[in-house]
Amino acid sequence: MTTVLVFLDHPGASLAKSERELLSLAASLGDPVVALADGAGQAYLDGVGSYGVREYYRPDTEAVSEVLVAGKAAFLTEAVRATGAGIVLLGNSYEAKEIAARLGVRLGSGVITDVVALDADLAATKSDFAGSYTVTCRVTSGVPILTVKPNSFEAVEAGLPTSPREVRIPVELPAAAARVTGRVDKPVSGRPELAEARVIVAGGRGVDGDFGPLEDLADALGGAVGASRAATDAGWIEHSAQIGQTGKTVSPQLYISVGISGAIQQKAGMQTSKVIVAINKDADSPVFEIADFGIVGDLFSVLPQATEEIRKRGL
Ligand code: FAD
Repeated sequence: MTTVLVFLDHPGASLAKSERELLSLAASLGDPVVALADGAGQAYLDGVGSYGVREYYRPDTEAVSEVLVAGKAAFLTEAVRATGAGIVLLGNSYEAKEIAARLGVRLGSGVITDVVALDADLAATKSDFAGSYTVTCRVTSGVPILTVKPNSFEAVEAGLPTSPREVRIPVELPAAAARVTGRVDKPVSGRPELAEARVIVAGGRGVDGDFGPLEDLADALGGAVGASRAATDAGWIEHSAQIGQTGKTVSPQLYISVGISGAIQQKAGMQTSKVIVAINKDADSPVFEIADFGIVGDLFSVLPQATEEIRKRGL
């Protein structure tokens, strides 16, 4: 059976949804093993074990995470060799994609990023050129290295929590031009991570600096709040909320676009969403071309009504 190596970066207290999706995919493709650059707590490891992972690999030095992506790529290279992995799966963050690229160079392997579907013969589906094309491609040399978009594969129900065995492997760290000297945890917002959220309410220039009504709707739906570049550039919301070509790529079940015109660079980050609802006061706005449902109206009138109705129905 093919060994499928899953790289899990920055483990939290328990498995995130996107990590459960990766592990589910790995278990459906073969025998899953995990590589962890950073240490993880017992609850997290038990969660990993519940997906049939019997062994997880750790570097013999904690300094791997100090040299950013180069150290992690060096560690993953050794993990692929130690496990004899036939497939490597990573998340789809910028960091994961860079690690994948460096791993591909080290192993002489092909890399496919932004994977949203995968056939049994490893033909991967992804969208390219700012979402203009849907492409099917397959790695033809070396060990296929795939970075997988969140919300693309189902996270199956895991088995009973079991503790996988730790295997430490030696890693020779590359010379580092820069080192991480400290880390600060991001403040917890209580809302889901943008990349993982099933529902996203995203606002653009039309919100005119007031994200309050969007936050209310997002909270009523248990969703996350995102933004167009116009809104992040204006300083109305943090840059990490930006969705699009130069921001995050998201594929939630429901994307509610509010006061966003739908420029190609914005669409590039959200058009693989399952259902798109657009709220815009301009009936000719291009966002309506990709929306499944559209509401022509002033967001400050539409959103409070929608939030109130959703709360009333206890959805
Ligand atoms: P606008 O285009 O100004 O649209 C505002 C919309 O709000 C209008 O349609 C208007 O009708 C509507 N509106 C106004 N008031 C209301 C109201 N009260 N109620 C309802 N609707 C209202 N953009 C991104 O989003 N993400 C990216 O990653 C990104 N990367 C880029 C990369 C490059 C290289 C370049 C050149 C551009 C990039 N952009 C990106 C910018 C992109 O081209 C657009 O400029 C940007 O998306 C516009 O943001 P917007 O839709 O919020 O603003």
